Amino acid sequence: MTRSKSRSRQSGLNLRVGHGWDSHRLVPGIPLMLGGVRVESELGAAGHSDGDCLLHALIDALLGALGRGDIGQWFPDSDARWRGADSRKFLEAVLRHPDLPDFRIVNVDMTVLLEKPKLGSSKAAISETLAGLLGVDTARVNLKAKTWEGIEPREPAIAAEVVLLLEIL
Ligand code: MG
Repeated sequence: MTRSKSRSRQSGLNLRVGHGWDSHRLVPGIPLMLGGVRVESELGAAGHSDGDCLLHALIDALLGALGRGDIGQWFPDSDARWRGADSRKFLEAVLRHPDLPDFRIVNVDMTVLLEKPKLGSSKAAISETLAGLLGVDTARVNLKAKTWEGIEPREPAIAAEVVLLLEIL
């Protein structure tokens, strides 16, 4: 028995960490969806689906923790079925996929990079929506918002980074 196996058995935990990152261009004329919530904004995120970069990063973190690849493999942007898709459907499809092991989400920590609008008034709604989709208490879902601090890409953009810890049951 290796030392890591021995430690895992002693603790009784089978923890996995996952990391996700996503970014989208911001353009006028489309809604800004973030964590399944429509945020009032002059610009929205361009994308094949609804451009919800926070949900995309969250799904990548979940798939990463489960060792199951990335969102592009599961929902290719070459597939017309996903054009304009509600990204909440992607998360729901992963969560109920029969081939995945049973797991329990320990916590999720997320950072959004966005120049404007400020997310202060939307953060609670986004966290609550994501907690609801994941089936966890809102105390296990943390959202931070930062601006680009002068290093925004040439075009307006939004990015999200998510770290997720889960326990395989
Ligand atoms: Mg994306």
